[in-house]
Amino acid sequence: MREWLDRGYAGEMAYLNRSADRRADVRNVLPTAQTVIVTATNYNTDRPYSTECGDPARAQIARYAWGDDYHDVIGARLDALLAWMRQQSPEPFEARAYVDTGPVQERVYAQHAGIGWIGKNTCVIHPAIGSWIFLAEIICSLPLHVDAPSLDQCGTCTLCLEACPTQAIVAPGVLDSTRCISYLTIEKRGDIPASLHEAMGSHVYGCDVCQEVCPWNAVAPRSDDAAWQPRRAWDRVDLLTLSQYGNDELAESLRGSAMQRTKAQGLRRNVAIAFANAETAAERRV
Ligand code: SF4
Ligand code: SF4
Repeated sequence: MREWLDRGYAGEMAYLNRSADRRADVRNVLPTAQTVIVTATNYNTDRPYSTECGDPARAQIARYAWGDDYHDVIGARLDALLAWMRQQSPEPFEARAYVDTGPVQERVYAQHAGIGWIGKNTCVIHPAIGSWIFLAEIICSLPLHVDAPSLDQCGTCTLCLEACPTQAIVAPGVLDSTRCISYLTIEKRGDIPASLHEAMGSHVYGCDVCQEVCPWNAVAPRSDDAAWQPRRAWDRVDLLTLSQYGNDELAESLRGSAMQRTKAQGLRRNVAIAFANAETAAERRV
């Protein structure tokens, strides 16, 4: 991670630099830590992949953000799991629970916990579920029995590296965030470099391309969990409709959604770029 940060691949995500030392070992977060319990929750739903769409006027939104904010939903479930553990344990113990927000290298622990391996696209891939999974973890002082780590099953495949619209995967498992559409549309504040606009296509919030092309997601199981079903405002919406949402409508749709991170202002910036791309695509077709 230190090498990745030194190369500047974290872009403006200064919190990663600030937390790098703590992330190196969970005992920096909980000195008595002995075990990390990692959970994976399938959020895939029955909508087609963006790469199957073929319509430049359709707004593309990352699958994980279609429903309710996973921090809240999984946070509550993790709290319930921890409460159950405290009930069952004959001894009191210390614990910290995190959903994506803690200074924890959760993908590394997920691989060690046997959830799946870190693919060349940098996502954790479960051999049966694929990579449409939310990771979360409980770090605890209990000396629990541990599972076997997962083995890398990417093999000679390079589909994700080839499919990335912005060539952001600069080597297997190495992501230059400053080129990644997910970073540009969600984490980046202010203007997005013009040189990357065209490659962003119709992505207005995140990007799933490197997961969609992954063979391990070809027949990924779907969840019927109500929390992850697409909200009406984002469900296969076209760019024109999205650009016409008023401030109140947008604020209402963003409430309790993972898409709050970019706020209405960021979303409008992204939609404007996607809209210009769609117009260019339409002109080329004439
Ligand atoms: S999320 Fe999109 S832009 Fe980022 S690495 Fe994957 S394919 Fe490339
Ligand atoms: S597309 Fe291929 S190389 Fe990329 S993560 Fe999936 S299996 Fe690995």
